[in-house]
Amino acid sequence: MAAAETFNLGFIGAGKMAESIARGVSKSGLLPPSHISTAHRSQHRRDAFSSFGVKVFHHNTKVVEASDVIILSVKPQVVKEVLLELSPLLSEDKLLVSVAAGIKLKDLQEWAGHGRLIRVIPNTPSAVGEAASVMTLGEKASKEDEKRIASLFGAIGKIWIANEKCFDAVTGLSGSGPAYIYIAIEAMADGGVAAGLPRDLAFNLASQTVLGAAAMAMKSGKHPAQLKDEVASPAGTTIAGVRELENGGFRAALINAVVAAANRSSTLS
Ligand code: NAD
Repeated sequence: MAAAETFNLGFIGAGKMAESIARGVSKSGLLPPSHISTAHRSQHRRDAFSSFGVKVFHHNTKVVEASDVIILSVKPQVVKEVLLELSPLLSEDKLLVSVAAGIKLKDLQEWAGHGRLIRVIPNTPSAVGEAASVMTLGEKASKEDEKRIASLFGAIGKIWIANEKCFDAVTGLSGSGPAYIYIAIEAMADGGVAAGLPRDLAFNLASQTVLGAAAMAMKSGKHPAQLKDEVASPAGTTIAGVRELENGGFRAALINAVVAAANRSSTLS
């Protein structure tokens, strides 16, 4: 491990998102679990973290004291209360990272009392190391801070940087997007069953097809339209299926889904 990466990481809010980040970070070797801490009252959540070597305190204050980087991973409704309570211990010596949906940098800065902040929107595939995350930097966050958080979230998937103005659109696309694809997988599997496949095989084929197509889109360097054209031969099976998708308004439905979720996000934040 590079010396530059040796720091102490703390989670305020020992929930699902914190656990997937902590597990990803320790599995990647980026930080040993002994450099990670959190706090929780419930024994069940305490055990979930201590089972892989994370230090579990009884109080959030101990987590803050022990950490150079603090990830705020409580539900959005309690962020204000938690930050106001901890603000006497928070200072620019400690980088604060919020994953809470919809809570803006300017509010985080006001409640934390400083601007060395980074806001991140991850998504649920973080649980299997395939998150699509986006970060935006507070006014006092440095290039080093950006690099550090890029490698932390790089341990649970991929991360990009964007202006906070894009965050409602990010929420509509990658935040809510897994649900759109689950529906596509379920529907493709139903199609397989309707065409005669056993349910298990249909589900596995649909899931692996989505995974494979996503890998092609990420790794081939080709535009998705070109990839589609390459599997659609004249008068073939694929173009017959594509025609039905166009008839059913598949493209417009996906475009509208992202825009509707982005609009909804803007009314929440
Ligand atoms: P969660 O409910 O699993 O975790 C939150 C945890 O915080 C719970 O264990 C709760 O007991 C604990 N908590 C509540 N009040 C506390 C307090 N005062 N001090 C310390 N801990 C406290 O929720 P989650 O799914 O892990 O989400 C956490 C945050 O991550 C949310 O703000 C959410 O918007 C954000 N987020 C989650 C996902 C996701 O994929 N789950 C994706 C993007 C963003």
